[in-house]
Amino acid sequence: MLELKHIKTYYGNIQALKDVSITISEGEIITLIGANGAGKSTTLMSICGIVPPRSGEVLFMGKPIQDLPPNSIVSLGISQVPEGRRIFPFLSVAENLDMGAFLRRDRDEIKRDIEYIYELFPILAERRNQAGGTLSGGEQQMLAISRALMAKPRLLLLDEPSLGLAPLVVKQIFEIIEKINKESKTTIFLVEQNANMALKVAHRGYVMETGRVSMTDTADNLLANDEVRKAYLGI
Ligand code: ATP
Repeated sequence: MLELKHIKTYYGNIQALKDVSITISEGEIITLIGANGAGKSTTLMSICGIVPPRSGEVLFMGKPIQDLPPNSIVSLGISQVPEGRRIFPFLSVAENLDMGAFLRRDRDEIKRDIEYIYELFPILAERRNQAGGTLSGGEQQMLAISRALMAKPRLLLLDEPSLGLAPLVVKQIFEIIEKINKESKTTIFLVEQNANMALKVAHRGYVMETGRVSMTDTADNLLANDEVRKAYLGI
């Protein structure tokens, strides 16, 4: 479904991605783990066109997308939930969800999808008229994921959904990620510092170190790998 081929991404003169190749098949949950500053967020931004790679290719369903603007990439079926759950704080929950469907015209489907979101996250249904900015951190993360789902993506990119959330809320968010993958057949690319949780829900994983992929394997093998356990799982 998605193929990154030898991408190199820069911020001015600073090279953040040195030669990154990643493959994601339809239906998978793939996680990208690594330390602070390894280049995980930059990888996501290179896919969704916010920081396009300077060289290499990004193929989505076999077609190059690395030169397309972000809105065209969303229309093709890729949505991102950025780090720090940037929702619209002054808009209500319901209005935030409407914004997620901005590029869609299928009104009946949109209504059904909103109902599905409210089933997935009953707390958002309860708070549908509340301003996004007044929700708790966990509720805002749920809203950020929901807003991205409203674009009906085939591929959902999640940047550190567990950041700053209490363990119980993190568990809930990861359960929902698995549910979205299974029920709506959405392929998921999950960037996480919480390697333990991420590898438990993912099928396969990539480990990133200073702008390069240093290891890739099934999630089970990475969880059992001594180097990964020492460096990222604190075991
Ligand atoms: P974290 O887990 O802390 O979010 P990360 O693995 O997502 O880290 P990136 O945010 O992709 O890492 O950063 C990769 C490198 O690019 C870092 O060295 C960072 O300092 C640099 N970088 C990121 N954003 C910018 C920017 N806007 N301008 C200059 N350098 C940047």
